[in-house]
Amino acid sequence: MSIAVDYVEKADQLVEAGRFFFERGWAPATSGNLSARLSDGSVAITVSGRHKGRLNRYDIMIVDASGRPLTGNRRPSAETLLHIALYRRNPELGAVLHSHSVQATVLSLLEQSELLLCHYELLKAFPGINHHNQEVMVPIVANDQDMTRLADTVEQRLQQQPSAQGYLIAGHGLYSWGESVEAASQHIEAFEFLFECELLMRRVRG
Ligand SMILES: [Zn+2]
Repeated sequence: MSIAVDYVEKADQLVEAGRFFFERGWAPATSGNLSARLSDGSVAITVSGRHKGRLNRYDIMIVDASGRPLTGNRRPSAETLLHIALYRRNPELGAVLHSHSVQATVLSLLEQSELLLCHYELLKAFPGINHHNQEVMVPIVANDQDMTRLADTVEQRLQQQPSAQGYLIAGHGLYSWGESVEAASQHIEAFEFLFECELLMRRVRG
């Protein structure tokens, strides 16, 4: 497949994922960002500041494997470095998606350092999980406006927890990933469902 065809295919998938995230309330006020790795190792990623519910193909630009823009003079998402760091650590990754839901934001502030998910059937949405009693640990890192430092913090946490399928940034949102845009989107969807359950459990328990 040519890189141009690959780009169009992945860009359209990211546009669709953006619309889905916005409709579900996971990407308010231009927040969130979405990327997919292309066949030559470059990365298609949302342009900074675009509304995720109203993306079109031209809102998806290409950066190189280090995050430097390769197309036009537009600015990629402010959090490009976090995407790049995930692709760098796992050559199997095809997509990285980031949501800003209410439940992820609140839970990441209620919990310290990590969120433990267990006893949910939907945990089986994650690779390697085939039983509801298996535990899924979601690391929580402190928010930081310095992306280089934040990427380093995330890297340290993921080295301690290589099986993590996503991580939370406190008061900010969720990052998850997968071998394709579809797989990554399903992981975000599963996490967001589980976060809603966790938040509801805390409310009911008081
Ligand atoms: Zn963000």
